[in-house]
Amino acid sequence: MKLYNTATRNREDFVPNHPDIVKMYTCGPTVYHFAHIGNLRSYLMEDILEKYLRFIGYNVKRVMNITDVGHLTSDADEGEDKMLKGARRENKTVMEIAQFYTDAFFSDCEKLNIKRPDVVEPATNLIDNYIHIIETLIEKGYGYIAGGNVYFDTSKLDKYYIFNEFKEEDLEVGVREGVEEDTNKKNKNDFVLWFTKSKFEDQALKWDSPWGVGYPGWHIECSGISMKHLGEDLDIHCGGVDNAFPHHTNEIAQSEAYLGHKWCNYWMHVSHLNTANGKMSKSKGEFLTVSLLEEKGYDPLAYRLFCLQSHYRRNLVFSWENLDNAQGTYNKLIAKVAALKEEGEIDQEALTALTDKFRAALDNDLNTSLAVTAIYDVLKYKTTDNTKLAALASFDTVLGLDLIKKAVLKREELKKQAAQANTISVIFDSCEENEEIKAMAEARTAAKKAKNFQEADRLRAEILEKGYVIEDTPQGPKVKKA
Ligand code: AMP
Ligand code: ZN
Repeated sequence: MKLYNTATRNREDFVPNHPDIVKMYTCGPTVYHFAHIGNLRSYLMEDILEKYLRFIGYNVKRVMNITDVGHLTSDADEGEDKMLKGARRENKTVMEIAQFYTDAFFSDCEKLNIKRPDVVEPATNLIDNYIHIIETLIEKGYGYIAGGNVYFDTSKLDKYYIFNEFKEEDLEVGVREGVEEDTNKKNKNDFVLWFTKSKFEDQALKWDSPWGVGYPGWHIECSGISMKHLGEDLDIHCGGVDNAFPHHTNEIAQSEAYLGHKWCNYWMHVSHLNTANGKMSKSKGEFLTVSLLEEKGYDPLAYRLFCLQSHYRRNLVFSWENLDNAQGTYNKLIAKVAALKEEGEIDQEALTALTDKFRAALDNDLNTSLAVTAIYDVLKYKTTDNTKLAALASFDTVLGLDLIKKAVLKREELKKQAAQANTISVIFDSCEENEEIKAMAEARTAAKKAKNFQEADRLRAEILEKGYVIEDTPQGPKVKKA
């Protein structure tokens, strides 16, 4: 499988460090609010990567953090604490907010068929681990204390910028406008490992540490959580593209300084979901959540299909019109799968040929739009329906579109509609219901359906003899007193 590695800017053959396991780490949500569908695009594409690795036979251990402390409104350790902001907004404690939005996040993931990672670790669980890493970094000369906080000294590194080439002068302290500078920093990009002195005297969650009571910086959480569950090396680290700098850059800096060797081999970054006005965010424009899509009548899996239709390294523009199109495509797709009958032997040769196409798409840096095309190839292929159903069920373990499940529901719905169309409901208009007349009216409609018009006419005449007239309406036969 070839995967684009943001760290090398190359499409590379994916070779895990250990033959028996792929170690995968994904930056998780900051649980101060609902995830918007842009955030979920990142998790959705990471889910595809994980499932595809499993599809091609790897054992995967995937770890995700839940950021419930330390993430400030600016990723560069400036601004307000996001969790505190959430707690204040809702008049709740930070931990109440964290629990509520963690649950909401996983409920959204479930609706989008995003698998829960093998390990989910709230950042507040591993404070001792971060303290240990920070102590080691200070011992090794990478950490310094200034103004009560502990900082990472980026000037100690041979190479700090992994993902982007910045002009050094742009990064000197005090050059960016509109951001209050932290004058404790020796270098512009030094970052906080541990806060004790901050603007947030009302910080809710604090722990004792060798540097005083305080809380960890955001970046150290991901290094600590990854190392705790995956050890000293990592195969793939994922996140949205905005995480590359400074968050992932800082993760690499501190992890490799701490370990004394290379940490992670492949970096996968998912491009943004944009609106017509730019990057989707929680504070700008309509706050688009999975619940909102549902309220408006969309199937969350139509959004999943919408994401799969474009490559994860391209920005994707969201509009209601685009989502309408995806919903239409999804409905048609399900109808096509529903039309397949469980018939015929499974043709292994055909199944292999179809699977090869599917794999070729995803082996090519997760080309999900071609993988979706592979579904249509299955539907068009000259083979038995059972072969098609087997191929679709197999592909869907990666694509997660519920193709088979939804097709079964569709078939049941169609059956119900047909049954409803077949039931004859006789309407008695301004007269009391009469069982005998009702039975005769039903028999007449059945005769008409069977094109036995003679019998239908005979029944109409008999009904008339008994003092009733019959009139056909779209709702069924209507009976009145003659
Ligand atoms: P946060 O909860 O803010 O830490 O973000 C969660 C994840 O969503 C991170 O991996 C971000 O990089 C990613 N993300 C944020 N905004 C977008 C967007 N508009 N499109 C795609 N991914 C995003
Ligand atoms: Zn992270």
